[in-house]
This record gives sequence, structure tokens and C-alpha cells, in this order.
Amino acid sequence: MNIYSFPRGGLSFDDPTAPPRDSSTTAFLPALSVIPLVQHAGVPAKPTVAAGDLVREGMLVGRSQGPLSANVHATVPGRVIRELSWKNAEGRICNALLIRMGGGFELLGKKETAYSWTDLSPHELMHLATEFGIVEMEGAGRPIAAVLNYEKAGKRDQTLVVRCVFDDPWLASDYALCRERLKEVVEGSAIAARTGRLNRIVFAVSHREKDLGRKLLSEAASYKLPSSLVITGSRYPQHNQREMELALRAYEKREGILLGSVIILGPATLAAIYDAVKLRRPVLDRYVAVGGSAVKNPQVMKVRIGTRIGDVFAECGGFVDKPKRMATGSPFLGQAVTDLDEPVIKTTYAVFAILDSQAVEGRVRNCIGCGECRVVCPVGLDPEELFKRLRRSQGGDKAGSPYASAECHGCGCCELVCPSRLPLSQTIAGRHSYAG
Ligand code: SF4
Ligand code: SF4
Repeated sequence: MNIYSFPRGGLSFDDPTAPPRDSSTTAFLPALSVIPLVQHAGVPAKPTVAAGDLVREGMLVGRSQGPLSANVHATVPGRVIRELSWKNAEGRICNALLIRMGGGFELLGKKETAYSWTDLSPHELMHLATEFGIVEMEGAGRPIAAVLNYEKAGKRDQTLVVRCVFDDPWLASDYALCRERLKEVVEGSAIAARTGRLNRIVFAVSHREKDLGRKLLSEAASYKLPSSLVITGSRYPQHNQREMELALRAYEKREGILLGSVIILGPATLAAIYDAVKLRRPVLDRYVAVGGSAVKNPQVMKVRIGTRIGDVFAECGGFVDKPKRMATGSPFLGQAVTDLDEPVIKTTYAVFAILDSQAVEGRVRNCIGCGECRVVCPVGLDPEELFKRLRRSQGGDKAGSPYASAECHGCGCCELVCPSRLPLSQTIAGRHSYAG
């Protein structure tokens, strides 16, 4: 067991508007669900049903169209009312099936059949994960088959890293899932390791989750794979790919263990792999952290995919006042949402709505040169200087650099601490054009 912490930077923070993470509630089933045909990194799935068709719970409704595409399934039984098309806040065209719930549930409330997987080959396991549309349940939603195949090319030693680091309070959904489905997360890890021909499992937990880490390790003892525990520091952003790899390399050096190439997966993805292989069902729901200053009763909810976020907010008591900004993801790294009809998809780990007082927009002032941003940057960048250079270049000054910093991984630490509320990380990571 080893402890890693940042050589510099990072920050400890609590967000009182994030939901408490020690419990979850199950959301109502949606009377109307919106099932997007793209919930993954690649091209949209091709619909296999049309308006007027009846669908069953868990039925395939969209067929994958290539290596980064993924199958899409109905999450409730009912009838397809029509196919929708809209432009989301990022300008991306989204197509979805609108389903009115009706008829009997074949999976919900029924006794689950557990299938043995230990005699299945990696190829057969991969086939099940692909058929049931398993993707990384965060980020761009890379199909799991692409993650496991891509990473192993040409490498002998490979390690599955189970990322159970919750230094971002908006990862409350992952934390709740990890506690409530610990056995499934561990078995999902063993399945993923076999599927990707990985020869070791490492559970990475934050410093304050040592007990959880020990439970994960003890549960993993029944699977015949070397497994170990790495305890990271507890400062944000330890869960990022880059920070996690640094922690693992430090561990490798100290323990003299060769981890080789690493594949990092979160608990929601591993539980989804378990569901596909052991229960033979697609991802029907996911844990979502719902909160923000505009939400009356923030909470972690288990939500059917396709549920509109307006329904999710309503179940949390609605809004205390009109929100200034809504988004999926954390307030620092989220994707803006303008329509309450946008649905929860496979990668939605959090949704939030914030009031004017918590919003960054409209409060941009000038840099006061306090230097806080430099102190917290875990990569050692000078966010103030980078931001000013980028702002000059956007204003047409040739002395300013037109490029966003490739080293910045957009963790948002600098933006969080900036007393002037400058859009630092968004600008430096190249996601925002500052015209101030
Ligand atoms: S967002 Fe980029 S510049 Fe800001 S603290 Fe993180 S890595 Fe550093
Ligand atoms: S934290 Fe904000 S105000 Fe302070 S130096 Fe950095 S950019 Fe300027």
C-alpha cells in the first residue's frame, strides 16, 4: 500500500451545493423518455424501431455504426411516439427516440438470473459488452470494446486501475454507487480484466477512503488475479487521468512492481460491465448527483437513462429561484444545458443548476495579481499569464499566443480559486473564447 500526493498544487474543497453522498434515492420511472441515438464518442446508432412501434424494457432500439459507436437500448417498455432532433448547447445535432411508457416490465422488480462468466473467452465477454452497448460511463463515452482493445496494442504487462477517487464533490454519484454496489464493482473489475487480458488490478482510492479501499481489496481476494491498493492524496484533481498515472508510476517505483500500460475505469463503468455479462442486460439506469444552489433538495438519484433533467430537478423539490445556468457534469467542467427536456444519458454523472450568485458569467472583473491560480495549478502552469496571452491574441494582438496550453488538462482549480472569477481554465484549455 502506498500514498501519493501532488508535488505541488491541487486543492481541497467542499461544495455545500453538491448533494450528500452517503445515500441515494431511486427516481420515478419517466412517463416520457428521450433515448438519444448517440450516447457515445462516435457516430449515432441507426434506429431499429420507428414511430408507432412497441418496445420492451432493455430492447435494442439503435444499432452501432462503427468502432466508436455503440448499441442503444430502450430503458422502459412502451411505444415510440416519434424521432426527435435538436441542437444542444454545444451546437451538436442530437437525434433521439421519444418513448411513452406503457406495458409490463420484464426486468424491473423481477428476480435476476446471474450467469456464470468464468468459462467465457475474452472474445465472448467482449461480444456481450458490445451487444449491451457498454461505454465508459463518463467523458465522451468511449465504447468499452474500444478502450480495452486500443490500450493493449503491443503491450505485455497491463493493469486495470479501478478509480475510486472522489476528491471532486460532484463525484458523489460514483461514491454512492461504489458503496451500494461494491460487490458488483469488484466482479465487474474481474470481468473487465479478463476481457482485456489484463494481468493485475489496482484499486486507487483517495486518502479519506482507506476503509472503502480495504473492502474492495478483500472482496477482490476471491478472484485469481493479483490485486493491490494505491492510496492517493485527497486533493482535487486526483481523479484525472494524468494525476492518476503519476500516482501509479510513483507506486510502481517504490514497490518494484511493473504495472505496464494502465487502463483506468470508474465504478459506474465496471458496474455496467457486470450488468451486461453477469445479468445479460444493458445499462438501464445510472447514479446521478443532482444539486447546485438553485436546487431545493440536492441528492444522489438512481435515474433511468432517458429521464429528462427537468423531471430529475422536479424530484429534488424543484428550484428555489430561476437558475442562471444548468449543466451536466461538475460546475467547473460541465457541459451547458439550455433545455429541461434534455435527457440523462449513459455518461451523465451529475446535473446541476445554479443561481446568479454562484454563476461565473456576468462577474468577470480584472486580474488583481493575487497569484492564487499559480499556487493551485497541479501542472505548474501560470494560468494568469496564459490567460492574458490568450486574451490578447483573441483581441488581435500578434504578441499574444493563439494556442491553448497543451499541458493544461482543464481541471478547473485555477478558475475555482480566482477571486476575479476569470474564465481561466475554459480559456486555457481552449473551450472558451474570452471577449471581455
Ligand atoms: S485548469 Fe489548467 S491552468 Fe488551471 S489549474 Fe488546471 S491545469 Fe492548471
Ligand atoms: S487568481 Fe485570478 S486574480 Fe489572482 S492572479 Fe490568477 S488570474 Fe489574477
